[in-house]
Amino acid sequence: MRVVGVAELPTRAGHFRVVAFWNNRDAKEHIAMVHGDVIGASNVPTRLHSECVTGDVMGSLRCDCRDQLLEGLKKIQSMDRGILLYLRQEGRGIGLINKIRAYALQDQGLDTVEANLALGFRDDERDYAVAAHMLRSLNVRSIELITNNPNKVQQLTQYGVSVAGRIPHVIPPNDHNRFYLETKAKRSGHFIDTWGKPHLVEQSDPVVVDGMAPPESEPAEPAPAG
Ligand SMILES: [Zn+2]
Repeated sequence: MRVVGVAELPTRAGHFRVVAFWNNRDAKEHIAMVHGDVIGASNVPTRLHSECVTGDVMGSLRCDCRDQLLEGLKKIQSMDRGILLYLRQEGRGIGLINKIRAYALQDQGLDTVEANLALGFRDDERDYAVAAHMLRSLNVRSIELITNNPNKVQQLTQYGVSVAGRIPHVIPPNDHNRFYLETKAKRSGHFIDTWGKPHLVEQSDPVVVDGMAPPESEPAEPAPAG
């Protein structure tokens, strides 16, 4: 894993520096969106985002990826410094084509897990070793992980990343995620989108919309001080 390019990148979420990485292990191009001084810094707010072409680019409503990406960038921009790692592990790591195939199986009635298993994959094939290498290349001493998933903290720690804390990722309600709040009121924990399809959690991160109680399956955890 090495840094192969750095450039300024103004976005609709604010001004970033984009750092391009080449990973010879998975032969993929990854990027880090960097705000402020992070080289050699400690407690750097960091968000991991796994690539989702259908959500991030096309605005698919089968998952939350686009909202999570944009709100993650905005959140980092609102802080003194921060990093969003854009990891090229599409569809929970199974790849774009297999994700589309899994969607097709879901259209026939299988749930997310069953669809992945039918294609011969584990439910989640993601690997955060790449993220650990990127943070090491940026010489970040420690991070505060922006996530609603405490398991992600453990995973990164296993790869040698010093995780000093966790920052909950709470998304403000808008026209696109209002159905969360509506379905939340009607059902317990089962989110069905406006087309009647199960709403996927592709970022291994339960979505928390401001004003909505966290999913029952996630134990409530106090936000880190500071
Ligand atoms: Zn997605």
